[in-house]
Amino acid sequence: LRPARSPRDRRPPAPPRAADGDVLLDAGNVTKSYAGADRELPVLEGIDLQVRAGEVVALLGRSGSGKSTLLRCLAGLIPVSSGTVSYRGTPLTGANPGTAMVFQTFALLPWLTVQQNVELGLEARGVGALERAEAAVGAIDLIGLDGFESAYPKELSGGMRQRVGFARALVVEPDVLMMDEPFSALDVLTAENLRGELMELWESGRFPTRAIMLVTHNIEEAVLMADRIVVLGSRPGTIRETFEVGLERPRQRNSAAFEELID
Ligand code: ADP
Ligand code: MG
Repeated sequence: LRPARSPRDRRPPAPPRAADGDVLLDAGNVTKSYAGADRELPVLEGIDLQVRAGEVVALLGRSGSGKSTLLRCLAGLIPVSSGTVSYRGTPLTGANPGTAMVFQTFALLPWLTVQQNVELGLEARGVGALERAEAAVGAIDLIGLDGFESAYPKELSGGMRQRVGFARALVVEPDVLMMDEPFSALDVLTAENLRGELMELWESGRFPTRAIMLVTHNIEEAVLMADRIVVLGSRPGTIRETFEVGLERPRQRNSAAFEELID
């Protein structure tokens, strides 16, 4: 996807591609509290989590368990209260340069076309107009929206809007693709299609992303998509349990086990 770079391109030079198993994200003893009216509201406590190249990690938990908070901390969109988050060994000081996010409610700008929405992330990184256009058209094509470059979000179905959300994330070629309940605003069939297509693209290596983090409260979705499931307990977001859902185990693993754990 990535075109040649102009001198104004402020993206850091891409580090060598991570080998399978290399640690991309590393959270060490992470705590996060939000300021409440009269006291701090603790949300995450003592979170240790690593995400390695080659894996799809699902972050599963009930509403309010801190999934979005943890994902935002890992993406460097909000600061942790204590502990550290590193990307490929370097502690974050702001937005994580190796991640891009797909949001539940798409977060598209309604006054911009599909292509302009997709170009936003590249614009922020100082990529020139021609290169932006070329990369955006490539990402739009990849995600199945060829021909809709000039459409506005309101002209698109929910599933197509979320495709724009995916294109906007993929166009920056993140090492780790972060998704916060990306399918939960979509109807069941649309979600199933998009999920299937994304996993097919990922498995065929048609975008250079090296790991995927999926936040979901949908147990079936986690079991279907993830290599590893991290369960967040509901009271102060301590990771309660992690499961490896691998080829050696049935993907249709009994979800009752998870039901109990996320209670
Ligand atoms: P989840 O994504 O698992 O539903 P969140 O991370 O969104 O959980 O929220 C965890 C807890 O933190 C909830 O109690 C929520 O109300 C609170 N919270 C989330 N964001 C903020 C914020 N910006 N300010 C204050 N409290 C917040
Ligand atoms: Mg959330």
